[in-house]
This record gives sequence, C-alpha cells and structure tokens, in this order.
Amino acid sequence: MAEQGSDADADARAGQAGRAGRVLVLNSGSSSVKYQLIDMADGSRRAAGLVERIGERTSRLVHTVHTVHGGADGESARPGRRETEQRFPGHGAALKAVAAELAADGMGLDSPRLVAIGHRVVHGGTRFTDPTLIDDEVLAEIERLVPLAPLHNPANLTGIRTALDLNPGLPQVAVFDTAFHATMPEHAWRYAVDTATADRYGLRRYGFHGTSHAFVSRRTAGLLGREPGETNVIVLHLGNGASASAVAGGRCVETSMGLTPLEGLVMGTRSGDLDPAVVFHLARVAGMDTEEIDTLLNTRSGLAGLCGDNDMREIRRRITAGGPDGERARLAFDIYIHRLRKYIGAYTAVLGRVDAIAFTAGVGENDPEVRRAAVAGLEQTLGVAVDTERNAESATRARLISPEYARVAVAVVPTDEELEIAAQTYQLVTRQSSSGR
Ligand code: ADP
Repeated sequence: MAEQGSDADADARAGQAGRAGRVLVLNSGSSSVKYQLIDMADGSRRAAGLVERIGERTSRLVHTVHTVHGGADGESARPGRRETEQRFPGHGAALKAVAAELAADGMGLDSPRLVAIGHRVVHGGTRFTDPTLIDDEVLAEIERLVPLAPLHNPANLTGIRTALDLNPGLPQVAVFDTAFHATMPEHAWRYAVDTATADRYGLRRYGFHGTSHAFVSRRTAGLLGREPGETNVIVLHLGNGASASAVAGGRCVETSMGLTPLEGLVMGTRSGDLDPAVVFHLARVAGMDTEEIDTLLNTRSGLAGLCGDNDMREIRRRITAGGPDGERARLAFDIYIHRLRKYIGAYTAVLGRVDAIAFTAGVGENDPEVRRAAVAGLEQTLGVAVDTERNAESATRARLISPEYARVAVAVVPTDEELEIAAQTYQLVTRQSSSGR
C-alpha cells in the first residue's frame, strides 16, 4: 500500500515542478486536520484550511484559496473562502473532503506541480531523527511508537494512510516533532531512573515542538546577522502547549518537554513540572485511576486548572478588570511567569553564553506583558532586557525588542511550522530525485 513512485516519476515531478514545485503539508491532530499547500519557489501559500470536530455530530471544513496564477497549468482557483458543515466520522473521510476541495480548484493530489506531501508526526522516538520518506516499514515503526503518543500518532498515521490511498505514487515524508531534539546530550535526555527499566520502556526525554524550535532558532540567528552555527539561543515556544529549548550553535542541547509533552512549563491545560509522587498520592488517597490522573494533568491543569481559563487574552482581561476573579487570574499568571523565569535561568547556565532569547507562538508572539515579566529584573545578572516601546509594538514580522546596548538580544519570531515541514520535505524529495535515489 505504501509503495513509492518510481525514480522516473520522482524525476518527472521535480522536473515539471522546477523551482515552483509545491508541497502539501498535513497536520492531522486528534480531532482536526490542518493543511497548507505551499509554493516552494517563495514559500507562499496557495491554499490552506482545516477540518475540525472530526468524529463529532457536525464537523466544519474551512478551505481558503490564496491568489493563484491560473491559465497555463489549468488551475481554475480564484482567491476566496469556502466553509461547509457536515459530519466526518474519521480522519479518512475528512482528508478525502480536503482532497476534493483542492481538486475543485485544479490543485488536487494528482496535480503535476505537487512534488510531495509533508506530514507532521508527533513522536519519532529514538529511530526518527530526520525527515523520513514514508514506506511500509516506516509506517510500522510509527505505529510501534503509538504508546508514546497515544492521542497523536494514530491520527498522524490515518492522515498518512489516507493520503497514500489517494495518490500512492506521490512521495510522502514524515517530519517529526521530536527530531530537532535528538542532538541533546545523554546527560540532558536521560532521566535519573534505573537504567535497565528506563531503556526497556523507552523512558527518556524526547522533547516536542521541534520544527518550531528549529525554525525560530535559525530565524533568530538571521535577525542578528549571524550564522546559526555560531549562535546560542533560548527559544520560548508559548502557545496553548508551551516548551523551552536551549540551542547551541544550531543544535538543541536541552528542552523542557520530556517523554510526553506534559513536562516543563505551565501550559494552557497541562501542569508542566511536578513531583511525580503527586500521581501515587492521587492514586492512593483520592482513588483515582491512571486515566483520570492523565486527564487531570493534561486537560484540567495549567492555566485552566488554576483559574478556569487557558486563553492568555482572557486572563489578561480578568486581571485588568480586578476583583477576586482578577486575583485568581493574577495568581495563574504569576505561576506561569515564575516557571518561565526558572527555565530562562537554567538554560542560561546550560548554554554558558546566550546570544538571544526568542519568544514565539500564540502567547510569545502577541503578549508584551508576558515577555516583559519573563525577563524583568534580569538585566544586571543576565544582561537581558526589553525595550518598552519595541516590546509594545504590534507587528507580525520577526523583530528585536531589546535595547541596543543589551548583552543578550530579545526577539519576537513568528513561528512557521508548516513552512519548516514543507522545506524539510522538499529538500528530502528533491535531493532523492536528483541523486536518482
Ligand atoms: P497551539 O498551536 O498550541 O494551539 P497557539 O500557538 O496558536 O497554540 O497559541 C494559542 C494561544 O495563544 C491562545 O490560547 C492564547 O492564550 C494565546 N494568544 C493568542 N493571541 C493572543 C494575544 N493577542 N494575547 C495574548 N495571548 C494570545
């Protein structure tokens, strides 16, 4: 089933596509599919969309077409947005509908300009440390990793299998969330747990959000006008899920998420770090079973567990409004910031020399107060400061927000995981076809 196109197919595709080849990026989450069709000549989006609430009574598909130069290649797409509500019982049905939307615009999975599909895959274990061309053996290995990512890897697999069914000849590449962190040294990834048990069950820190940390650390070096290989960066990916990484000369040396995305920073709904004995205590004293504790720590903790809201915008609104409700929100905010500052301090020690701290993802890109509070008072000790005006500027471009004189640059860098997945996919596929594989 997972047969690959022939070498001749791959050559023909890369040839036809030339520099203007396109990559479809698929991100199949637990109840959603997000996609972007990216033109590799300039990274522009041709189409994008999402299907959400897969498996629920009504699912929603939103498909957006960006400006497409029609004509020569038979594309009929006009810029616009289509939204439909219908029931998709599973990822397979949802993806077929996405393929039909793309085909309706002349950009279907059989389009000659499409050179590959890049799939986001959450867990690559220790086996997958690079983007990987998908075949039956790779599929089986991703399946074997399901116990490490029980919510995500099965959805990723369904996405891949459906795409393979729809066009078995098209190269498909898996890009793993864990891969960028594979360069961590053993003293960073190994838990201080009986080695035989840890090795037998794959207990170690893997880290996640890797494509974002890779993209943002490289982009930050660019902002400083330096080579990534000469730049040390602390990346703070603060979205609903949140993670920090220490990147030394372009290689990840430490990250805050662990065996699963539960470890590390305070997140929207996840606790981040806590004493593992909390789990035994809840089992013994509260009689909770594993599933209940898992749900508590992953979905009813973090900012949501502390104050009832996981959206930082709402928390900020409540703090401004004041009163007892605002105080609860303020405490949640303070706990979030305290954890973040501990990681900034720790990663400064890990790196020894820090050239930049980069804020990214929903909160990191949009919330100046989080950025200010995260580094407040660190100027004397760590040489980190933000310029009030630069920090307050509302902009979507990558930019520096530290004062000129600061020893450590502070940057806001919008992440672009889809572009990173597309670039890694394209690089692998064109390299393989030009080397005749
Ligand atoms: P994920 O990809 O992990 O779902 P995102 O990176 O999209 O998350 O971030 C989503 C979060 O970003 C929201 O839950 C919200 O807390 C935060 N966010 C978005 N916009 C703003 C804003 N203007 N100010 C503060 N926080 C924001």
